[in-house]
Amino acid sequence: MYISPTYILFALPALLLGLYAQFRVRSAYTRYLKVRNRSNVTGGNAALSLLRAGSLETIKLVEVPGELTDHYDPRHKSLALSQEVARTPSVAALGIVAHEIGHALQDREGYLPMRLRGGLVPVVQIGSWLGPILFIAGLLLSLGGLAQVGLLLFSGTLVFSLITLPVEFNASARAIAMLQANGLIVSDEEEKGVRAVLSAAALTYVAAAVQSLANILYYASLLSGSRRR
Ligand SMILES: [Zn+2]
Repeated sequence: MYISPTYILFALPALLLGLYAQFRVRSAYTRYLKVRNRSNVTGGNAALSLLRAGSLETIKLVEVPGELTDHYDPRHKSLALSQEVARTPSVAALGIVAHEIGHALQDREGYLPMRLRGGLVPVVQIGSWLGPILFIAGLLLSLGGLAQVGLLLFSGTLVFSLITLPVEFNASARAIAMLQANGLIVSDEEEKGVRAVLSAAALTYVAAAVQSLANILYYASLLSGSRRR
């Protein structure tokens, strides 16, 4: 398969950033999974007390298989924790649990970026496959308008990844505040560990946005190149 040098120019830095972010997440997670928190509370128990503190007792707590599969599900109003996070009294577990509860708080408040993000899901689901098809068809058939429509549809993925950033950063800020307010992190080392895990996770979202931007710039460069020909 032929991969154009222009594509490599656009995509490689973004790809490297993505790999670096994954590496950071994994190393921060494995490191702070081994550090016991001073309250000696498991992720599952921390979740219960934080949900209670936030008057979010109606949220269901479920355990899911896999590693780093923890998430808040706004549709079912449930908090899914991976086994390791739910069962270990680690610093990493505290950070992850509190971050996901941050999303639950956003959901209850109707936090605007989260609502916008939710509204974009169908657009992205369609645009991410139909956009490239229309774009390539437009280029092959020399129909500039069609290619532009394809690019526009595909751009929904960039908007989505950008709007994800405030949602994620805000959930992490809430997490730190929540853990401190409830006395779950008391030492500087614990705070450092929680921040390391959460900032590594945030970097993966930044990398996803950069990758999305790189793809769109590449498509746009193809489109302007085809016009010049
Ligand atoms: Zn999140």
